[in-house]
Amino acid sequence: MDRRNLLKTLAFSTAAIPLFGSSAGFITKSLEPNALQLKFGNLDLYLFSDGGNVLSDPFPLIAPKETEENFNKARKECYLDQQSIAFSLNILLVKKDNQYILFDTGNGLGKNKNVGRLIEQMQASNIPANLVTDIIITHAHGDHIGGIILPDGTLAFKNAKYYISKTEFDFWMKENNSTIKSILNKIQINLTFIKENDTLFDCIKVEHTPGHTPGQLAFLIQQNGKNLHLKHIADVVHSPILVRYPEWGIKYDQDFDLAVKTRLNILEEAYNKRQLVIAMHLPWPGIGYIGKRDNRYDWIPLSFGSNLKQIEL
Ligand SMILES: [Zn+2]
Repeated sequence: MDRRNLLKTLAFSTAAIPLFGSSAGFITKSLEPNALQLKFGNLDLYLFSDGGNVLSDPFPLIAPKETEENFNKARKECYLDQQSIAFSLNILLVKKDNQYILFDTGNGLGKNKNVGRLIEQMQASNIPANLVTDIIITHAHGDHIGGIILPDGTLAFKNAKYYISKTEFDFWMKENNSTIKSILNKIQINLTFIKENDTLFDCIKVEHTPGHTPGQLAFLIQQNGKNLHLKHIADVVHSPILVRYPEWGIKYDQDFDLAVKTRLNILEEAYNKRQLVIAMHLPWPGIGYIGKRDNRYDWIPLSFGSNLKQIEL
């Protein structure tokens, strides 16, 4: 399919996610098809929304050691006080020649109807699940690997190989979480362990970013002749509030202090190098820069034209 047709497909797809966010201020509803295409050197990058979870009360899930008063001040400072806070599930797919490389699989279809829409979104963009050749797992939380398995128990991506950190794999195999263990067991035969400084597919450099989980990985995507640093930072930050106040942390982090340290390092590097970062749970589509305002970092979403579904990096 040529680019113009792809654009049309994306623009006229009706596979919208009826994701509502309510609050004291106003109600929002997503009507747009939740897929974006970006061109980066020889790579086609796609961002798909697996959906998102609206948090009725984000405190003290975020900033568990802070006062509610401070949290509410920060929420206002980030212009997030007049709307619900939602954790999006933004999924990156990199197409390199005939390889379709997916970063995580989203939550999968289950009881929670707000998430698990990845395959539907991919299909609407003419990328059926069986085209996926490789799946890189950033870490093994359920909202990242749940989509590996269909509700009938079979594999959703029939032709894919999988990649994960050995530290992450070993950690979960020892934990008492039967769902995660059974998913990892199912893919073990097609699993390759990856680690810090490995380069995958000649364009993806692996970084160890522990704290949220012991073996969480981030990925620097590189293209010859391009100065742009594009980095997938997985769950290093869950909210623009944590970009602004990285030290506040989130209860989901397995090692709270290590996660803060990693978050500070990643944000500082992204700010210094003007990296374009993709974050799994920042507001859809979760791609942007780390700026600074009043000596604190700020989330600067990448700008899109109102109807633009495809941009060139
Ligand atoms: Zn997550």
